[in-house]
Amino acid sequence: MSSGAPVLRFAPSPNGRLHLGHAYSALLNADLADRMGGLCRLRIEDIDPQRSKPALIDAIVADLAWLGLTYPEPVRHQSAHMDAYRVARDGLIDRGLAYPCFCSRAQIRAGAGTACDPDGVPLYPGTCRGLDPAVAAEHRARDWPHTWRLDMAAALRQAGATHGYVAFDATGARPVAADPARWGDVVIARRDVPTSYHLAVVHDDAREEITHVVRGRDLEAATDLHVLLQRLLGLPTPRYRHHALLRDAGGEKLAKSRGSQSLADLRQTGVTPAQIRARLGFS
Ligand code: GLU
Repeated sequence: MSSGAPVLRFAPSPNGRLHLGHAYSALLNADLADRMGGLCRLRIEDIDPQRSKPALIDAIVADLAWLGLTYPEPVRHQSAHMDAYRVARDGLIDRGLAYPCFCSRAQIRAGAGTACDPDGVPLYPGTCRGLDPAVAAEHRARDWPHTWRLDMAAALRQAGATHGYVAFDATGARPVAADPARWGDVVIARRDVPTSYHLAVVHDDAREEITHVVRGRDLEAATDLHVLLQRLLGLPTPRYRHHALLRDAGGEKLAKSRGSQSLADLRQTGVTPAQIRARLGFS
């Protein structure tokens, strides 16, 4: 869209049914798009071939429609754009910014120190960074499973020293300094697909001309990395808003993995979309 109107997106991963936390994020995106005179897209982040089930995608769309949320067509499904992610990945490889990593999880655990990335995962010790390119090529010719990792030091050198973005909320906008180095040599392409969440999301936000990214606070630290990838790939940086996560009565954040009640469960017990909207602070 080139009209200059704001474009937002709600981007669920179809690895479980939507819960109230998703409903909050989806409603907030729709509400902000409305207030700003823009639109909100739906993006299905189904890069994980094991966990993304077609039936779940249908269920997500149905749950959103039940809440009263519909989205402009076409809805982007990331699984249909692997070629584009491969091109982006290969561009980083060709520029010496990414290297293949043949380490198993156990090897990484054994080699890692105590420092962790913002998700609490031990920083990659760099084992494969200095691998002789001929040896790496041999491993690859033998089809050894490998991820591709960003060479963080090289990436920071190429991207230049300062990184930041503009965060916005109801009170206004403010600059935020980003510290991508804390992610270390992060995986930019998994073993099974030519991308990771990080690479696909920055690619798609640009491709879909997203101007405002509104998502949970659990992804706030990842924005530091996203800003760096945008710099490296020559992509624009949207504005960001990271909202608080909904918690259950025990103070734990809602999560599919913890069995939080899904919207479908709530619907079954007779809860209406209007009640959900009211409960989440939307009229
Ligand atoms: N697909 C991600 C999730 O479901 C959200 C990604 C994003 O909003 O950037 O947690």
